[in-house]
Amino acid sequence: MTGRCLCGATTYVARGAPSAAHACHCTDCQRFIGSAFIGVNFDALEVDGPVRWFDSSDWGQRGSCGTCGSALFWRLKSGDGPKVVSIGSLDDASRIRPIDEHYFADNVPPAYDFTGDATRLSREETLAKFAGASE
Ligand SMILES: [Zn+2]
Ligand SMILES: [Zn+2]
Repeated sequence: MTGRCLCGATTYVARGAPSAAHACHCTDCQRFIGSAFIGVNFDALEVDGPVRWFDSSDWGQRGSCGTCGSALFWRLKSGDGPKVVSIGSLDDASRIRPIDEHYFADNVPPAYDFTGDATRLSREETLAKFAGASE
């Protein structure tokens, strides 16, 4: 699947079967995106353009367009694991399955919420799910 940033300088091709969407409500994602990060996992990612990778933790990196600043990607610094793209950057997200999990669901601000009965993992539950992924 293909996608791009707002200005079009950064484009990408994401390969492999896309996951269902997931929403992350951690403070880092809120600052990166401006609200919840709704992401889709792919196996591989080829990026063309002035993407800027930022180390947002000891294990994770976020990618944004170096020209317009669009928030596009999350990946492990190690290079392993899924390549997460923001759903809004996909050229066609019509076939992405609905959100199946919310991460850090206890950090959703009162100003908004999501409908549906997707699994809502608390901070503790989210960290437990991904324990080991960072090692
Ligand atoms: Zn751009
Ligand atoms: Zn997050």
